[in-house]
Amino acid sequence: MSRGSISPLLTRVRSALHAWFDTQARQERESEGPDRVEWLRILPLIALHLGCLAVLVVGTTPVAVAVALYLIRMFAITAFYHRYFSHRTFRMSRRAQFVAAVLGSSAVQRGPLWWAAHHRHHHRHSDEEEDVHSPVQHGFWWSHLLWLTSRDNFATRMERVPDLARFPELRWLDRYDTAVPAALGALLLVLGEFLAVVAPGLGTSGAQLFVWGFVVSSVVLLHGTCTINSLAHRIGRRRWETPDDSRNSWILALITLGEGWHNNHHRFPGATRQGLRWWEFDPTYYVLCLLGWLGIVRDLRPPPDQAYSADPMIGATKADTGAAA
Ligand SMILES: [Zn+2]
Ligand SMILES: [Zn+2]
Repeated sequence: MSRGSISPLLTRVRSALHAWFDTQARQERESEGPDRVEWLRILPLIALHLGCLAVLVVGTTPVAVAVALYLIRMFAITAFYHRYFSHRTFRMSRRAQFVAAVLGSSAVQRGPLWWAAHHRHHHRHSDEEEDVHSPVQHGFWWSHLLWLTSRDNFATRMERVPDLARFPELRWLDRYDTAVPAALGALLLVLGEFLAVVAPGLGTSGAQLFVWGFVVSSVVLLHGTCTINSLAHRIGRRRWETPDDSRNSWILALITLGEGWHNNHHRFPGATRQGLRWWEFDPTYYVLCLLGWLGIVRDLRPPPDQAYSADPMIGATKADTGAAA
């Protein structure tokens, strides 16, 4: 192989490695063309999935840790990344906002600005050609996960989140979006080793806590969140005639702590509450009410009166169901 052919390959590998740690690093493109999977850049995502096999080696003691970290981080995604950063359906102090962004970042679903920018675009173009994760347009696997791996969807579109981009601490978390997940993984490793010494009766270790609390929990959490993109526009019932194919599903609501009432949400995206009826289980909303009572968040925006009218809003348009950002 000639030196001339090795050089572009090395450049691509180097820029992909750089982009693992710094999302603003430019990646070289061979040419403009159709969107495709960026294999070099998603090696950590593949490794995370393969890492789940390590449960066969480390044992199963800390399953409760994995479940707890799933619940806490799913709440951070639904309450903060989605209902706060993407839709601004309630308010909080700048300090609380930073803590919310750190908790959301720990979910290994990239930074808060990236997440909110893509989500706002989803609401503006739901199930249209431009919607990057529409199962109607692009099929199940692309809408579920592959869109995350594509060359065109790595960048944070700052022009869609100017209200968030003015905070330097949020921009930093977004740029170095592996920093918080790496800290969480290291913390679990150290905690597990510490417990193995001071409380050997627990039968745990650093490797166990890391594999269950970080690797397995993060993979399940990612796919749980992704069901809203892939399945919440495919399974369930439609109460509202929205311009997209969003649906309400109690199964998805259980998996995602209340996000399964997706048709309600597409109709009233500015409301904090997504489970509009008493039987529409929305634990994210209940916990946000508790945080409101404690003074940590405030001004939770209620659904409008139409949300409780007998007849659905036939003929709703993109203009009145778009992201309330
Ligand atoms: Zn949707
Ligand atoms: Zn939304």
